[in-house]
Amino acid sequence: EAKSAGRDMVRFFSKETDQRVLSRQLMEVQLRQALSAGEFSLHFQPRLHARTRQVVGAEALLRWNNAELGYVPPGVFIPLAEEAGFIHAIGDWVLRQACTTWVALEKQGVCRGLTLSVNLSVAQLANPALVDELSQVLHETGLPPEQLELELTESHLMDNPDTAQEQLAALKELGVSIAIDDFGTGYSSLAYLKRFPVDRLKVDQSFVMGMMDDSADAAIVSAVIGLGHTLALGVVAEGVESLGAAQALTALGCDELQGYCFSRPLPLEEFRHYMQHVSPVVERRRRR
Ligand code: C2E
Ligand code: MG
Ligand code: MG
Ligand code: MG
Repeated sequence: EAKSAGRDMVRFFSKETDQRVLSRQLMEVQLRQALSAGEFSLHFQPRLHARTRQVVGAEALLRWNNAELGYVPPGVFIPLAEEAGFIHAIGDWVLRQACTTWVALEKQGVCRGLTLSVNLSVAQLANPALVDELSQVLHETGLPPEQLELELTESHLMDNPDTAQEQLAALKELGVSIAIDDFGTGYSSLAYLKRFPVDRLKVDQSFVMGMMDDSADAAIVSAVIGLGHTLALGVVAEGVESLGAAQALTALGCDELQGYCFSRPLPLEEFRHYMQHVSPVVERRRRR
């Protein structure tokens, strides 16, 4: 049932405008009750140190499964949640759920002090209460702030750079770190990049996925790594799909790697298994 509904969704997106409007309304109705219906979950995608290939952290990625709509990707429902004003409740749930899960995994010896990355939407950053809310979540869950990294997309930061700068500074004071996501797709002024209190750049996956066949993509990746290091920022590549790309990125001096080549985003139980069995094996093999 859900499967055929999922197929209908695909048709909604690719067909006429009135159908798209219809699906949008249906989706908004479903999205309104998704939190209380317990339809959200988090997947975790490992991030690895480029040279040692050891896991250094994971990114929490939101998943929505709805009985009528099937699986709806975050790239589709997050913008809708922003427009409909649901993003605050959803974003709050993500933060709380991600931190709670990470602390539980830590207690089971799975996370070994590694970093948890959580995506924040621009609407959350614009919320003046964000800093207090995050501080509350950290306090309640007991997650050490040094173990939390917030990811904000570049294009969103540049919508309102002065507000963003102030909010980022206040977040940094809590002790968390900040990464700029999808870097290279927006229009960062280098002056702002210097002023923003950020710790890390995530090279957008479109360049990473293209770098083995397209010399312009390869040049952009190389330039972003150079820029990041010049500004004393860590650089992460996302969308690393092949071992060839992983090797090329490592040779370019990229610090960390994330992508299907190592692991897809995993549901909690599979992530736990990966951390306990797969990743230590990879590490042992490499140490020999
Ligand atoms: P993002 O933060 O840039 O996340 C990376 C996306 O790339 C994820 O898609 C991930 O599944 C995918 N990915 C990772 N490795 C590879 C790879 O090797 N190849 C390919 N083709 N894709 C890869 P996903 O999970 O569909 O998320 C899409 C976007 O939705 C995220 O982009 C992020 O902007 C947003 N998002 C996801 N979860 C949340 C959330 O909890 N809150 C907010 N505000 N946004 C979220
Ligand atoms: Mg991200
Ligand atoms: Mg990204
Ligand atoms: Mg993205």
